[in-house]
Amino acid sequence: MMVRVAGVYLSYPFCAQKCTYCNFVSGVGRAEEAHQYASALERELHNHKWQWTPETIYLGGGTPSTMPLDDLGSLLSLIPGRPWQEATIEAAPGTITPERARAWADHGITRVSLGVQSFIETEIRRTGRKHTALMVEHEIGILRACGLTNINIDLIAGLSGQTEARWCESLDWIARLDPPHVSVYMLEIDEDSRLGKEILLGGVRYGATDVPGEEQIARFYEIAVERLDDLEIRRYEISNFARPGFESRHNLKYWKLEPYAGFGADAHSFNGAARRQNPETVREYLEGRPAECTAANIAEERFFVGLRLSDGIQPQPDEWRLHQKGIHRFLDDGLLETDGVTLRLTPRGVLLSNEVFQEFLLS
Ligand code: SF4
Repeated sequence: MMVRVAGVYLSYPFCAQKCTYCNFVSGVGRAEEAHQYASALERELHNHKWQWTPETIYLGGGTPSTMPLDDLGSLLSLIPGRPWQEATIEAAPGTITPERARAWADHGITRVSLGVQSFIETEIRRTGRKHTALMVEHEIGILRACGLTNINIDLIAGLSGQTEARWCESLDWIARLDPPHVSVYMLEIDEDSRLGKEILLGGVRYGATDVPGEEQIARFYEIAVERLDDLEIRRYEISNFARPGFESRHNLKYWKLEPYAGFGADAHSFNGAARRQNPETVREYLEGRPAECTAANIAEERFFVGLRLSDGIQPQPDEWRLHQKGIHRFLDDGLLETDGVTLRLTPRGVLLSNEVFQEFLLS
């Protein structure tokens, strides 16, 4: 019997431009390579033995909103379970047209995640992106007219040139556009990104000398938590906020350690016991390099991943014992709280979550 439990992730690592802060294995690909890639993805999906009926789909990238519509239709037709409970496509502002939005809805897409990052023009330009706030407003109108009302907007706290006033202006746009889901990421400079390299070299490109400090970024994040809460868009995971019922069902599977299957370059899969990672780059994927499998450490991952959720986790008796040193240390420090059954991060623990997770990875 097939069970409806799992998620499907499709990776499309092609972008119109490389953002200055990005360290993903995405790149600006040629149309021909993107088409070869879509064919390889089709083969992988076609050869997959489905042991369950997918419940959710997530098309991430990269910029899957630029995928030719024929390719998108072919790929989605190979995934059983339609209509899925949730099928998300990540989209870059500036790529949404009525034709695309209509085709996405026809192909079974139910949710669009918009990589806006900021509504402030100087901040946007320094990331290398080309959109404007008015463009985002217009494209959200297109999506809604096509019935795609389940919309997420991504924002980044800590972009170069960001001030408290400008950050609040981006949050004002959220109030105005009224999406049911918002993701807020605190910028972490990766030394492999163009911005990271520029900072290491002491250069000035991409606004490298104008990146807010850690404390300021944490302050921006806290402002967002408050402002979104006022809009009844509540935090349910460290970086994710939603109106009740609009939490991302697909992403919840990652944090609840439910199974999912990933297809495409660098895609990850989890079957409840083991993890599998596809070859990292498009070239390696097209060469047909094998995926790498590793056993999952559930007792470790439940803490590392599950504690990201506002609801926290309910550790098993042996997990309380295994992690007792770390748990007591963070309870004493006020970074964790418990009622004896559930363990969760405190508001301060959310800001210092990397420190907490590190402890559970090492114990
Ligand atoms: S941030 Fe997103 S859109 Fe920008 S280069 Fe990275 S994957 Fe592409």
